[in-house]
Amino acid sequence: MQPIKEIYPLLQVPRKIVITTHQKPDADAMGSSLGLYHFLLPFGHEVKVISPTNWASFLNWMPGCNEVLDYERETDQADQLINDADWIFCLDFNTLSRIKRMETKLKQSAAKLILIDHHQQPQTEVFSFGISDTTKSSTAEMLFDFITESGHESKITPTIAQCIYAGVMTDTGSFRFPATSASVHRLVAVLLEKGLQHTDVHQSLFDNFSENRFRFIGHVLQNRMEVFYEYNTALIAIPQADLIKFDIKTGDTEGLVNYPLSIEGIRLAGIIIDRGEERKCSFRSKGNFDVNVFARNYFDGGGHVNAAGGQSKEPLEAVVDHFKKAMMENRATLSTYQF
Ligand code: 5GP
Ligand code: MN
Repeated sequence: MQPIKEIYPLLQVPRKIVITTHQKPDADAMGSSLGLYHFLLPFGHEVKVISPTNWASFLNWMPGCNEVLDYERETDQADQLINDADWIFCLDFNTLSRIKRMETKLKQSAAKLILIDHHQQPQTEVFSFGISDTTKSSTAEMLFDFITESGHESKITPTIAQCIYAGVMTDTGSFRFPATSASVHRLVAVLLEKGLQHTDVHQSLFDNFSENRFRFIGHVLQNRMEVFYEYNTALIAIPQADLIKFDIKTGDTEGLVNYPLSIEGIRLAGIIIDRGEERKCSFRSKGNFDVNVFARNYFDGGGHVNAAGGQSKEPLEAVVDHFKKAMMENRATLSTYQF
């Protein structure tokens, strides 16, 4: 993988460009993809964003979201774009397994793959150009750096600012996680000067719950959460029947995993959701408990030190047992927690 700065001089030449991100994109994935989309269009490039799967409806307000292709629903059109592409930007993921069925297609493509990502252990051999920086708060922050370092800060419009802000704000937990550096705050200041309406972004993302989604949270915290104080750990396990009963859609479970970390003493929070075709797991931690390693070792996953995910094909009860065993095996670290 050559450094991303190698493509800066090439930005001016119109190309066929696809931008993609991880399956079930979150606000950082979608925000950085759409921010890049709006940045590239005025250069005269043909640009399209392709998501490997559908996404949460609370992202639909993002400018350009209605132009994004869902690979699972619009496979033929997306395949054609991938075949024809000169460049494929890969944002907010670094291993091709994160793009589900698009993986085979990308491997066959003659396009140059360009990585912009902040996760651990990148599959660098598959990318022609790129940047991987695990110290960065978000991929959206890295997009901001990409735009400014390539000399194009003046091209940041209020639309691009909104997309970048959505990614940075959500991936930093509203500016509270350790990766919220001074440069993150400086970036926000620049975005505000560019015309960002930050209140709109917060409201669009957080004040748009359906009543069902809100009541579902109450149900889950009351009935589906177990707390293991001796391990400073809490686990939420959600059967598929709950998702059906509350009419839960993609993205409605987003953020649930964070709630147990508000309990005094809890350092590790896990959630296992029975999505039918698989059990999806998310993990969050505080301090030195590395959930990236935890997810890799036990749940075929990965992510960051304090936020990671994985999956399993086993039944829900078996995955819960597996989590409890994993928790016990990590007792030494979990019970001697350090900031
Ligand atoms: P979430 O729990 O919100 O799905 O994901 C937390 C973090 O872990 C995100 O940065 C996400 O990209 C990463 N992640 C989630 N699931 C997986 C997975 O199955 N494999 C890998 N490598 N990373 C994951
Ligand atoms: Mn991210």
